[in-house]
Amino acid sequence: MEVAENCSVKVAVHIRPLIGDERTQGCKECVTVTKGKPQVQIGTHSFTFDHVYGNGASPSTSIFEECVAPLVDGLFQGYNATVLAYGQTGSGKTYTMGTAIKDGSETGLIPQVMNSLFKKIETLKHQTEFQLHVSFIEILKEEVRDLLDTEPVSKPATPNGNVVKVTVPGRPSIQIRESSNGVITLAGSTEIAVSTLQEMAACLEQGSVNRATGSTNMNNQSSRSHAIFTITLEQMHKIQAVYAVNDTPDEDMGEEYLCAKLHLVDLAGSERAKRTGSDGLRLKEGIHINRGLLALGNVISALGDEKKRKEGVHVPYRDSKLTRLLQDSLGGNSKTVMIACVSPADINAEESLNTLKYANRAR
Ligand code: ADP
Ligand code: MG
Repeated sequence: MEVAENCSVKVAVHIRPLIGDERTQGCKECVTVTKGKPQVQIGTHSFTFDHVYGNGASPSTSIFEECVAPLVDGLFQGYNATVLAYGQTGSGKTYTMGTAIKDGSETGLIPQVMNSLFKKIETLKHQTEFQLHVSFIEILKEEVRDLLDTEPVSKPATPNGNVVKVTVPGRPSIQIRESSNGVITLAGSTEIAVSTLQEMAACLEQGSVNRATGSTNMNNQSSRSHAIFTITLEQMHKIQAVYAVNDTPDEDMGEEYLCAKLHLVDLAGSERAKRTGSDGLRLKEGIHINRGLLALGNVISALGDEKKRKEGVHVPYRDSKLTRLLQDSLGGNSKTVMIACVSPADINAEESLNTLKYANRAR
């Protein structure tokens, strides 16, 4: 069967403004945007994407409206979807996704997804029953960790006696399973049923706190892990009573069940392993992260190549936990948006170019 859409992967670039550190260091901007076009230049390189935001890009509707709202609509039609934020540490992934608790939480994509989701449910609830679940996990060193697992650990206590709450290290990791019909599930992860916007926001916040707690204790893991916030929407659509010829209501009023999920992914920093430290352990983390990002690049590139796809070329989902987990929400009938985040500063030119090349391959 044909894959539903010609281009199921859309790529946007989000260029953030120069930030404090870069300004005080006297950095210059080295990323420019062609006026009126989704085109970016860096050095002698030029790339065209589906959308470009920031740094002089012509003002348009928001990233949410153009890139993500269609995915939320698709969710109501039963289509899985994935939004990925890619880029080096400090490029604005967390800000763009709204995965952090502080800055960006008002304008980030996840809060906007939640808002629009509940607005839509409000308008449809007279004819459809909805059930929402969220999970929030992190993949670090090819292990899946639950960010919604709240069980406090009573150690280590700080000198002033405060108990530090962290996710239990060494807890049996969550298993990724595939059912016979290709649905991917996470065995052993916390799935929280939510019925209000506030409840969903609380899950986002709690997971973000858990992620940040891990990171201060263990060498800023958050830049080395992929964080995946997943919203699962189940719908029981009541089909209007069908009247038989003799004008009596048909006993068997139909019901249509739909289930779809949206993954919102704050990817690990894309910077090269050499920057992540010299000791063996950290190098290993670097390699593992690259495995996820590498596999993702290969999967998305295979999906985007229509010729390859028609030839039935193998899509290497199994090469990493990240792609395995996203398997049923990348490609096929699902919609995917990759947002490549870049710093405009000249000191980051090399990594920004790498990011644009990676994103360009995804098109
Ligand atoms: P990453 O998650 O990729 O490591 P962050 O999202 O933490 O990067 O962003 C790094 C810094 O840049 C943060 O201080 C953040 O507030 C700031 N920042 C990121 N994107 C923007 C933006 N579009 N506008 C203003 N500040 C931004
Ligand atoms: Mg981040």
